[in-house]
Amino acid sequence: MYSFRTVSVIPDLPEQICRLKELARNLWFSWHPQAELLFSSLDARLWEEVNHNPVKFLLYADTEKLQKAAANPAYLAIYSSVLADFDKYMQGETWYQKTYPEQTSQLVAYFSAEFGVHESNPVYSGGLGLLAGDHCKSASDLGLPFVGVGILYKQGYFCQRINREGRQEAHYCFMDFNEMTVTPAALPEGGEVIISVRLPGRDVYIKVWQLQVGRTVIYFLDSDLAQNSREDRLLTAKLYGGNQDTRICQEIILGIGGVKALRRLGIYPTAWHMNEGHAALTVLERLREYVQRGLSLAAAREVVRSNTVFTTHTPVPAGHDVFSADMVERYLGEFYGDLKTDRDGLLALGWDEGRQGFNMTKLALNHAAYTNGVSKLHGVVTKKMFSHLYPGIPLEEMPIHAITNGVHTETWVAPEIRKLFEKYIGPEWAGNISDPHRWQNVYSIPDQELWETHQVLKGRMIKFVQNNIYRRMDRNFQPLELIRECAGYLSKDVLTIGFARRFATYKRAYLLFTDKERLARLVNNPERPVQIIFAGKAHPADQPGQELIKMINEVSAEEPFKGKIVFVEDYDINVSRHLLQGVDVWLNTPRRPLEASGTSGMKAAVNGVINCSILDGWWPEAYNGENGFAVGTARDYENEEVQDREDARSLFDLLEQVIVPYYYRRVEGVPREWVRRMKDCLATIPWQFSTERMVKEYTQRFYLPAAGRGEAFSADSYRLAVRVQEMKKFLTENWHQISFRAVRVEQPPLLKENAEILILAEVFLGPIRPGDIVVEVVYGKVSDHGLAQVTLMPLIFKRQVAESVYEYETNIVLIRGTSGYTLRIRPKDDCFAHPFELPLVKWADNF
Ligand SMILES: *Cc1c(COP(=O)(O)O)cnc(C)c1O
Repeated sequence: MYSFRTVSVIPDLPEQICRLKELARNLWFSWHPQAELLFSSLDARLWEEVNHNPVKFLLYADTEKLQKAAANPAYLAIYSSVLADFDKYMQGETWYQKTYPEQTSQLVAYFSAEFGVHESNPVYSGGLGLLAGDHCKSASDLGLPFVGVGILYKQGYFCQRINREGRQEAHYCFMDFNEMTVTPAALPEGGEVIISVRLPGRDVYIKVWQLQVGRTVIYFLDSDLAQNSREDRLLTAKLYGGNQDTRICQEIILGIGGVKALRRLGIYPTAWHMNEGHAALTVLERLREYVQRGLSLAAAREVVRSNTVFTTHTPVPAGHDVFSADMVERYLGEFYGDLKTDRDGLLALGWDEGRQGFNMTKLALNHAAYTNGVSKLHGVVTKKMFSHLYPGIPLEEMPIHAITNGVHTETWVAPEIRKLFEKYIGPEWAGNISDPHRWQNVYSIPDQELWETHQVLKGRMIKFVQNNIYRRMDRNFQPLELIRECAGYLSKDVLTIGFARRFATYKRAYLLFTDKERLARLVNNPERPVQIIFAGKAHPADQPGQELIKMINEVSAEEPFKGKIVFVEDYDINVSRHLLQGVDVWLNTPRRPLEASGTSGMKAAVNGVINCSILDGWWPEAYNGENGFAVGTARDYENEEVQDREDARSLFDLLEQVIVPYYYRRVEGVPREWVRRMKDCLATIPWQFSTERMVKEYTQRFYLPAAGRGEAFSADSYRLAVRVQEMKKFLTENWHQISFRAVRVEQPPLLKENAEILILAEVFLGPIRPGDIVVEVVYGKVSDHGLAQVTLMPLIFKRQVAESVYEYETNIVLIRGTSGYTLRIRPKDDCFAHPFELPLVKWADNF
């Protein structure tokens, strides 16, 4: 094909409403319904056609309509109030400024392969991207100095069309960035930002775009430039498209290109956050910077590590990106020289012995002072997955943390529910979402009012779904009478279950279909029927996922299910928002423990929609017996078939015996007990599972300590980094020499409560100095796998007994019941981010 340039001519907006242009370029509008109204009220149809993209909307909006609005006092009143809110938001004092006035020069850079901020920017595939988008919004709300870095995929993920046979078709369309809410990033001195990354035999040029999300900026990288070859222009075409080569190129662009882009923009972050292993190559580029400044690779690793945060999301090892040594050589070989190392030295940074390859998750783990999973359960699963890297270290003490995901509450709450919050929690309800006390006020919402509001949302959702099905049937040339029928699909009076998420097999969309007879009875119960709405995309390479979509579509066309089980095509943020604001029950059936967190249920809860979920991911933390429903129990299974069978059975039981009767039990038309549960859900879930709480947690636990460490490690020509690195090396090389020579315990013959035990230990340290280690008592409850809920008590240095032999002692006081205790030696350093930053330990033998 021939090539051409595109230009977009922006219409002149009438003077009175010219700041619409500014609103259109800031995603702030997307979580402020009044701001959205400024666009949608001008031309509701066009607003839908452009999928809520305000830049495109203004490009195509009718001049006459704009002029009419500019002369309409009612419109102008909303316009002024929205802009006043906007200005206040952008300039007002924030949580961060108030809480950390001394830390305003810190800056967090957050790297993610996908960002799901809004449907108008379809550069996300699922939960990972949505989380990143919501993270940015809360960073903005809180005033955290923060930038995001991602990739601007020209074709996004893909659009899903369901064809006549019920199969998914993946459609890719090229986006015109000029018609989107992004703008080219600009150099301080003016001009576009173009950087390059090295790929085998060539440089690939990357243009930097930016997206304004409230106060936060996300920088996006784009290889679709005329300077690049045709193939290279397509490197950033598709999210999760192509093969391993595409994947490593995209990761090079994100990680290495991302760091270079920030530098070109004059941005020097003080804390670096890698959201999932896709972003791990930031590590290499940052190492290169330090090695080029004269640091050894080993010391550079300590500097990089000191202020790096890594969040892992994948609970199965097979889900982590691993590249062969050959690929690393081909794509990253230039780093051998730049890092003053060789092939083995580079591979060692992220080598995965088990999978015999270069593992992005390991690269990230090895270079992050702070690593976390995304729910408490996932934290434990992650520890188990990596326990081989921490030999001898108890699970609960491994240096892997948990920060549970959240959602950006204001983004997901329906405008009508927001009004209830304003009325009953207070007009400032969104000012401090993570404060639990104010949420108690939801109990003062009258049952009737909450229920009627929910019914309004349900009605809107059903219309939306009918439209979606209508459009699909029309496009597929289905018979007219069938098309007409779909206006009668779904009813506002029927208990409605929603299930929408990526069609990854572990999410088990098929669970209800494992017993079709029972399902038929459930949906066709004459007094108490049930209807179910499905939506979701399967990755184009995921055959089983696509089969599942086909199966559900086939079933939904069959008689006892027609109009009662429906599939909504092209799941995206817009579809997601409609469904989880309008259904009665949000269903989640992952194969435990494969759902790292899950966030759609949190979004549903913000709207008083009740969760019915397997106790996986976030749900065990949220579920309190009253605020939703739990499927099955929190147990582990060895066999997947057994697990499916038992989970399906408990799901049906729960639906038939509890959920359905509950829902249909009415007092004066209102299901009182159901509404009570809706309120329990509103009182207990949104504050806790908000990104406001989550970003505060990242800030306090990781970002600020990381920034402090980064500064300390870099001071005085990286003196501390060099010292820590030398100390780690020395301890690692000599640790095997450490041993317990003798342990003596003196205890009274009868152990009463508060009895003291005296413990004396003689240890041999070889060349290691007593100051570099700690000898400690570990005691706690006796459990199946050793000691649990342990308490640590350091022994006190008493004297040197002989060459390299030292004596330590302490008293411990035992609590009632049976406790276990033992002794160990571990490295100690004030500069460690975690007691086991250096994972070495020596336990007392035969104790
Ligand atoms: C929230 C959301 C997700 C993630 O939902 P899970 O429950 O984690 O599967 C995926 N896609 C969209 C469009 C979402 O809004």
